[in-house]
Amino acid sequence: MWRIIVRGIVEGVGFRPYAYNLAKSLGLGGFVRNNGSYVEIVVNRNVKGFIDCMMRQLPAGAKIESVEVQKYAHNGFNDFYILTSGNKGSSGISIPCDTAICDECLAELFDADGRRYLYPFISCTTCGQRFSILEKIPFDRENTSLKDFPICEVCENEYRDPRDRRFHAQTISCPRCGPTYHLYDENRSLIDESCIDAIREFSKAIDDGSIGIAKSWGGMHLLCNLDKTKSLREIFRRPQKPFAVMFRNIEVLNEFVDISEMERDTLLEKGRPIVLLNKDNSSYFEEISPKLPNIGVYLPYSALHHLLFNFMKEDLIIVTSANVPGEPMITVNEEAFLLKADLYLLHNLKIVNRVDDSVLRVAKGGKFFLRRSRGYIPFGIHIPHQRNVISFGPEENVTGGISKESIYYPTQYIGDVKYYKTLRYLEESIEKLISYIGIKREELDAIAFDLHPSFISKRYFREKFSPYEEVFEIQHHWAHASSLMVDDDLDEMVCLAMDGAGYGDDGNIWGCEVLYTTFEEFRRLGTITEFPLIGGDRATKEPIRILFAFYETLKDEVEEKDSIFEGIKEADVWRRVMKRSPKTTSMGRVLDSLSCHKKICCNATYDGEPAMKFERYLNLKQMRERNCKMEDFDPEILTEDGIKKVDIYALYRDLFNKDIDEYTFLSCLIKSLSTICVEESQNLGVEYIGLTGGVSYNKVISEIFKGCVNAIDPTIHVVFHNSIPNGDGGVAVGQNAIAGRMLEVR
Ligand SMILES: [Zn+2]
Ligand SMILES: [Zn+2]
Repeated sequence: MWRIIVRGIVEGVGFRPYAYNLAKSLGLGGFVRNNGSYVEIVVNRNVKGFIDCMMRQLPAGAKIESVEVQKYAHNGFNDFYILTSGNKGSSGISIPCDTAICDECLAELFDADGRRYLYPFISCTTCGQRFSILEKIPFDRENTSLKDFPICEVCENEYRDPRDRRFHAQTISCPRCGPTYHLYDENRSLIDESCIDAIREFSKAIDDGSIGIAKSWGGMHLLCNLDKTKSLREIFRRPQKPFAVMFRNIEVLNEFVDISEMERDTLLEKGRPIVLLNKDNSSYFEEISPKLPNIGVYLPYSALHHLLFNFMKEDLIIVTSANVPGEPMITVNEEAFLLKADLYLLHNLKIVNRVDDSVLRVAKGGKFFLRRSRGYIPFGIHIPHQRNVISFGPEENVTGGISKESIYYPTQYIGDVKYYKTLRYLEESIEKLISYIGIKREELDAIAFDLHPSFISKRYFREKFSPYEEVFEIQHHWAHASSLMVDDDLDEMVCLAMDGAGYGDDGNIWGCEVLYTTFEEFRRLGTITEFPLIGGDRATKEPIRILFAFYETLKDEVEEKDSIFEGIKEADVWRRVMKRSPKTTSMGRVLDSLSCHKKICCNATYDGEPAMKFERYLNLKQMRERNCKMEDFDPEILTEDGIKKVDIYALYRDLFNKDIDEYTFLSCLIKSLSTICVEESQNLGVEYIGLTGGVSYNKVISEIFKGCVNAIDPTIHVVFHNSIPNGDGGVAVGQNAIAGRMLEVR
């Protein structure tokens, strides 16, 4: 007898029934069972033939990391069995992700003769809800919220029938035994009790211009047709924030927007993420994402979405997270009514784990995750140390995570943890991961935070997790750079980390940093000259304050005063407080100021708005194709305390004197930063230069950067993010890698 240990993504993807059928077809005796961290298969003979066949045709969604074969001292299996889950395993735990409805289930959904005709909870061994309903591992029905819905006799027969698609499907259910949808009006009165009538009526109401809330996988969404965009903005006080649009199918989407092959493949991935697509040629979507270069689109992923489109005339609708601003997405039926909508389509299956839609954009160098969540977490990521470390990320757009035996498990997207509810959400998510992975408190080696002295989350979690482990406080941009090294499997690089703000080890606010990094140390090699943030955070909301600070310093060298500085009421106050304002090297603020100077956006109603809107201007064809005379305006690179600093004051002077425009300003700046990166990497003998931080989501900037680096030295590899978020959602990965490695090298 032989025992085969299969590790990887093998739970919740129909692996056990698959192994069962394969063994039966080969006439083998033995068994298959889930052990929480791996699948164990025992066969009585022909082990090689079995593994060959197994690897040739894996079930969709399965991903094998390793196959190990051992002798098994046991005899006498005449038949093959699926045994109940054991619970011995510990390493490489497989926690399944929610997976979009498969083609077979979709066909069955619209088969009028089938048992699951128009049934919104249809699923099988390869598709359906997983993480969002998972209470504990292994992924067995009694460990999910579906345990509240005992299966009927017919489902039971399917579950036990090896020839059935739903043989051993843990999420099996049908209209007789499964969860159901109900429809409520704005007064919480039940309108429709019949599941399918509820969905039909809801769809028609959306067609007719109602704003509805629908409970989906992992949370609630606001839905309406595109004509209602303005009302949606008014009611939910989101004056400028972009909404995501769901399209009926990929063909319809193609009629509206040009998509590349890679974007198409990404949209159709099992995780069905929101993909940001270029909207340049279409004014149709202007209201959806005002002044931005792109719109977030996605395709139906649950049976409910397909049913809605089936009953609706609309080919595309707004589907966006339902939440109170600053708070996590709503998951509980009662709380849905706190948001003002016309109709509520709610189901009675408990959401165990909230999980927002994932958001990404496809770039030349890879995939940039703005949010890595539904469909992508909590897949383990390989991390270069063996320690048990929890990392909590920074303060905004946070994810956390925990590592065990060289695998890092990220939480879902959490949000801004300066709000108490979001902070609690991070705590619950971490606790959940701890329980899935099976780490005891006393087994924790370290906890890792941002260096920032006043983050509330730091104090909060320190109290919760003391006194078992060591505490690490890690510089923000070093953590960004380390997350990129994890992403690209490197140990060392020169990195340009550009973002809005991160606390520097000199007490200033950093945001445009050339660093030499390993997981054990970092050195600040270059940056831009510092400038004051008049009014601190208020300068983030009103970028005119940034421009004003530069203008005040440079006004003797500026020939003609720009009209943008006329009529500023607070000018005297700003002048006075400038000297004692916090100092920064934030690239995000520089972009904000350029956006304001170009009169694109001078008032941020959401995080990063001016800089994001500025990308549209950078992306204009005439901008990208023109021959800018950068060399005439290259700013000087100063050296202070051994750190090279690009003199951005020179660029602002040229901008104010109208010698250059905003595009040239930016390309000169990026070129100078690239020059520092290349010089330093050549000095240090480092072959890789990375780009990370929130600003690197900007495709124009990342392309200019790569172009400049390779123009100077074509042999240098420029690396980007691919699976870990460029922005603050990736910081916890870097914190974790650093803390674990520091423990190991001691
Ligand atoms: Zn399916
Ligand atoms: Zn049933």
